Amino acid sequence: MLSSGIWSTVIDDAAEHFYEAGISEPKVNAEYLALYILGVWNRTELQKFYDEPASEVQFRLYEQLVGRRLKREPLQHIVGETEFFGLRLFTSPAALIPRSETEILVEEGLKEAASLSKKNVRILDIGTGSGAIALALASRLPDASITGIDISHEAIMLAEQNKERVNSKNISFEEIDIFSNGIENAFPHSIDLLISNPPYISTEEFETLEPEVKLFDPRIALTDESDGLIFYKRIAELAPSILTEEGRIIVEIGYGAAQKVEQIFLDAGIAVLRIIKDLQGIERVVTAKVLNGQHY
Ligand code: GLN
Repeated sequence: MLSSGIWSTVIDDAAEHFYEAGISEPKVNAEYLALYILGVWNRTELQKFYDEPASEVQFRLYEQLVGRRLKREPLQHIVGETEFFGLRLFTSPAALIPRSETEILVEEGLKEAASLSKKNVRILDIGTGSGAIALALASRLPDASITGIDISHEAIMLAEQNKERVNSKNISFEEIDIFSNGIENAFPHSIDLLISNPPYISTEEFETLEPEVKLFDPRIALTDESDGLIFYKRIAELAPSILTEEGRIIVEIGYGAAQKVEQIFLDAGIAVLRIIKDLQGIERVVTAKVLNGQHY
């Protein structure tokens, strides 16, 4: 498929294949995989290899990885890791690859934690997946105690690996289904921040996702197999009995969902405090609180 030779031509050749396959940023992709194989971490380092021939082993490996990318596997899965909020985390087919816009959710969580009157903030991350949100919060809030829950056993295993990797102490992960009966009794009025990036893609929208997402992120992490709002309804149902008086809800939302989520919350006696846009100007994070007198 590729022709062997010096690195600059091998990389250009791969970039050409990516371009023809309609993969965006073809050169960046081709260079990224070369960086990985050569064990260097930036383009300046990579340039030193441009005039050197790729060894037989390096070339075969490179060809293999390029082949995987051509089948639309995301770079993060190919190299097995990504960066989120300054942490290097493992990725796997068990959970969503952490997205940069989800860092806004973490920032919002940190702001809300800082505004609380206590330091030992209790945080519950619903649908923790790789553990990215929970671990990012833990890395900045050493006095908080954080629980990340997920229905998927494989996701919890990945989150545990990430916990070990970043050496996080104040966090635990548990395999829990938030739709199970009586789950609110596990956290009675004890949570200060309920945070979540739930599956919010509707069944129809799922079909329109790009192949990198549709084929390689777990379906269960993307869609609720319905209108994309089921998790917000469940969170609204649980919040009054698991949140403390000054507790906050912070959720990531899908494109165009802000008004619908606000209505779901209002119907449950929950007021939206803020809607934060991502860098593309899309309403992405909703912060809310249970109205006084609505806790039960
Ligand atoms: N933001 C993700 C995407 O658009 C979806 C994440 C989610 O459903 N929570 O691919």
